[in-house]
Amino acid sequence: MLNIVLFGPPGAGKGTQSKLLIEKYGLIHLSTGDILRGEIANGTELGLKAKSIMDRGNLVPDEVVIGMIESILGKNTQAKGFIFDGFPRTSAQALALDNLLEKLGTSINAMLSLDVKSEELVDRLLERGKESGRADDQNRDIISNRINEYNNKTAPLKDYYLAQEKLILIEGVGTIAEINDKLCRAIDQI
Ligand code: ADP
Repeated sequence: MLNIVLFGPPGAGKGTQSKLLIEKYGLIHLSTGDILRGEIANGTELGLKAKSIMDRGNLVPDEVVIGMIESILGKNTQAKGFIFDGFPRTSAQALALDNLLEKLGTSINAMLSLDVKSEELVDRLLERGKESGRADDQNRDIISNRINEYNNKTAPLKDYYLAQEKLILIEGVGTIAEINDKLCRAIDQI
């Protein structure tokens, strides 16, 4: 299996790049944000609980997202591999992911971390909010809260993967094609 963590702050371009990478490498895209928004759209109990947390820009509890990932991994044991987008976001999630993959006899090959400055992120998210209708993309305070959550709880995961010699830093500024090129070159060297 080829298992990649596509990492970076909100608005770094993880979703856009994931879509291109899954096509090229035949992987499954596992975006916890997309799965949670699906739960909300379907009006499930999980979705109802997650909505108010997500609308404020806070992180959904670890056990909820870990449970979602566990269930999807269990249903796709024959997959070529996965792109994890928006997961893991805390050290508890990173540890849980390593344990789940170990049970499947596989592991993370690399964390590709897209680096983008905060000011650029805010502009990109406000722009996206105009089209996507995502409540968490339409308000500066909520966007700042998401970036703070990222800096406090999520960015430290780079050290976790660095310690495993799996961290690859990629400059996340440029055209979509340019960034895709850099990601593919990094993946081809794994
Ligand atoms: P972005 O990275 O652009 O903020 P996502 O779609 O990845 O967007 O996530 C949207 C929201 O979903 C987050 O702000 C958070 O509330 C929730 N969420 C997604 N993934 C996780 C996760 N792994 N752990 C906790 N909360 C999550």
